[in-house]
This record gives sequence, structure tokens and C-alpha cells, in this order.
Amino acid sequence: SLMITDECINCDVCEPECPNDAISQGEEIYQIDPEKCTECVGHYDEPQCQQVCPVDCIPHDPSKQESQEELHAKYVRMHGSK
Ligand code: SF4
Ligand code: SF4
Repeated sequence: SLMITDECINCDVCEPECPNDAISQGEEIYQIDPEKCTECVGHYDEPQCQQVCPVDCIPHDPSKQESQEELHAKYVRMHGSK
């Protein structure tokens, strides 16, 4: 899963780009639901939120490292097999 750091400026550009509805507005900054973030595996080659964030504040969450297989399994769980 990716995460949003406190450098977030609440611009709302990333939220509509997420194919998994994993991004939402938190109390102070935007946040990513690690249960839903597949790092865009299954949908896109690159994480879409990272592509659009103007301040580059969406790194990998070091405490939520997942393999391609795990990310793909999450995609299948949410969207069905493909
Ligand atoms: Fe959503 Fe993809 Fe960003 Fe994860 S990497 S939050 S799935 S846009
Ligand atoms: Fe925050 Fe970046 Fe999303 Fe804008 S695009 S809301 S700065 S995480």
C-alpha cells in the first residue's frame, strides 16, 4: 500500500484518480485505506495517485510492504478474477 504524508496540501487531485476508491479526505490530510490500495496493480502500470500529486507526498508505506502477488490478490478480492 502507498501512504500520504503530512506534506499533503489537500488539493483533492488524487482522490478521483484511484480505481479502488482507496483515497479519502481525513481529518487533516488525505488518507489511503491500505485494505483497498493495490498500488494500482490490475488497473494501471503506475500508481495513479503518485502520478498526479503535485507535491509528491505519496510514497510506499514501509510498514505495509506487499508483493505483486499479494497486491493482485487484493485486486481480485475487490473486482473479481481476470
Ligand atoms: Fe489508489 Fe492506486 Fe493510489 Fe493505491 S496507488 S491509493 S490504488 S491510486
Ligand atoms: Fe494530498 Fe497529493 Fe492527494 Fe493532493 S494529490 S490531496 S497533495 S496526496
